[in-house]
Order: sequence, then C-alpha cells, then structure tokens
Amino acid sequence: MEKNYRAELTGVFGDPVEGNPTGVMEEAAYDALGLNYRYITMKVTPEGFRDAMNAVKAIHMKGVNLTMPHKITVIPYLDELSEAASIIGAVNTVVVREDGTLFGENTDGKGFVEALLRYGESPAGKNIVILGAGGAARAIAVECALAGASKITVINRTAPKAEELAGLIRENTKAQAEGIAWEAGQKIPAGTDILINATSIGLGDDRANRPDIGYDSITPEMTVSDVVFNPSDTLFLQGAAERGAKTVNGLGMLACQGARNFTLWTGVEAPLEVMINQLKEEFGEV
Ligand code: NDP
Repeated sequence: MEKNYRAELTGVFGDPVEGNPTGVMEEAAYDALGLNYRYITMKVTPEGFRDAMNAVKAIHMKGVNLTMPHKITVIPYLDELSEAASIIGAVNTVVVREDGTLFGENTDGKGFVEALLRYGESPAGKNIVILGAGGAARAIAVECALAGASKITVINRTAPKAEELAGLIRENTKAQAEGIAWEAGQKIPAGTDILINATSIGLGDDRANRPDIGYDSITPEMTVSDVVFNPSDTLFLQGAAERGAKTVNGLGMLACQGARNFTLWTGVEAPLEVMINQLKEEFGEV
C-alpha cells in the first residue's frame, strides 16, 4: 500500500491561548485510535485572524476550535451555523466539509448536556438555575432550553446581562426564562432541579473561593454542576455534596465538548474515557 505521510490538521486559534488544555485531550484521543491527526494550539491575534481563516482552507485543515477573542468575529467567515450556534451568536468549533465549505458549531452547551446525561440527569422538563451570564452560561442556557428545559433562571452580578440572556431564551426557544440580580447569600429558589455555576469563580488560582449563595437552600433533590474544570472538585461542588445533592463536574463537560469536536472532525466516535483520564493526569488529579 502506498504510504501517506500527510497529517490531518486541527487546532485552536486564540489570544491568549497558552493556557488552553484542549490539545492534550484531542491528541490523546487521536493517538488512542491510531489516527494520523494533529491538534495544534495557535496564537492568532485579531489582526491576523483573516489570514488564519484563509490558511484553514489553504492548508486543508479538518477544522479548528476558536477561543477568546474569535468566537463571534468568526461568524462572517462561515457558510452555515448550527441552530444553537446561531442563537448563542458564538462559535467554538469550525468544521471544514469535503466541499470546502465551513460549518460553525458551539459545542460548549452540548458538552454540558452530554455530561449531565452521562450522570443520568436530563434537562428536559426541568427547572434550571444558572449562576452567571457570560459565554459559558449563554451556551448552556440555550442548549438546555433546546433540550426541553421547562424554565431557565439566570442569576448574575450584572443584572442587565441576566435579563438579556433570559430574553434570548424566551425569544428563541419554548422554555420560560427569568433574569435575576445576584444578591449576597443568594437563595436558590425552591423547586430548582438543576443548579449550575457558569461563572469563573473557583477556577485555578481562585480555587479557595466559591459562589456567594445560601448553600443551605440546596436540597438533596437537586443536581448541581460546575463549569470550572481545574480543579474539578470545586468548593462549590463540595458545598452541594455536603447538602446531599448529586454533583456533575466541569471536567466531564470539557471532555464531552472535546469528544463532540473529535467526532465532527474525524467522523469517528471519540474515546471519551481516554480524554477524561488524560485531562485528570494533566491537572494532577490521578
Ligand atoms: P465570561 O467572562 O464570559 O463570563 C463570566 C461570568 O462570571 C459573568 O457572568 C460574570 O458576571 C461572572 N463572574 C465572574 N466573577 C464573578 C464574581 N466574583 N462574582 C459574581 N459573578 C462573577 O466567561 P465564560 O463564560 O467564557 O467562562 C466562565 C467559566 O466557564 C470559566 O471558568 C471557563 O473556564 C469555564 N468554561 C468551562 C468549559 C468546560 O468545558 N468545562 C467551557 C467553557 C467555559 P458579570 O457579568 O457580573 O461580570
């Protein structure tokens, strides 16, 4: 058989991008399945973004992830958007199709829903409370609403952003939605099924902090999830577990999101456990 020395290329464009761990899990997954794919973490500034997007086509990449500050500015370059990406107004994954056209997806919220389903919890018919109204909160809110959530309550420090996200959900999905200003010791409304920290509180060097909520308002009937993935056992999740709630960590969301990218680019089912274990090793959790 004739040898093929050409690698299929994927990666991420961002600035700053040095701290982005996605390549670790994608490369481990390519290795595990013996695929001749590479995932390169690339610094792309706003000034260089047009050239970088032209390069995606010129060097026949399979696709790219986008992180700050490119998730919104990429949209005019794309030929088609998924329903979720179109509502969210941000794209974190581009797929180069066989015919050279570019498809934009947002896998952050899908990764969250998949991680939830893996723990036996579904957003369908549920009352969901989201702390935060930034990019992660937006993706999660839209995806949970598209998955059939009955109500989404957004609680945010900057109140107008909470109401804006609630409005986006009401206008584009069948879910009810409400935006609330975050108060000190914020009580979680009775009847909440799923509570999510979608802020960056507790991330990395901030690990000694946790969202300022009334932890005694968390009940054993709730499923509580955190987007923060490093550390994966955040003080927020520890507080929820102490109240008897089921917890779902952000590492699972990150891996499920990466697995979806993997499948979009390769057409093959991702080795999710390999990806989870590689992330745990990377974060010193094994
Ligand atoms: P953004 O900057 O877009 O949003 C940050 C949100 O956190 C805002 O709502 C902000 O409120 C709130 N916030 C930050 N600090 C505080 C504070 N001290 N008190 C109250 N609210 C606060 O960030 P992203 O949405 O992009 O990212 C949020 C987190 O999600 C990060 O930790 C990121 O790593 C994680 N993430 C995880 C993923 C995964 O796969 N596990 C995927 C994507 C993101 P305000 O509006 O008032 O400023």
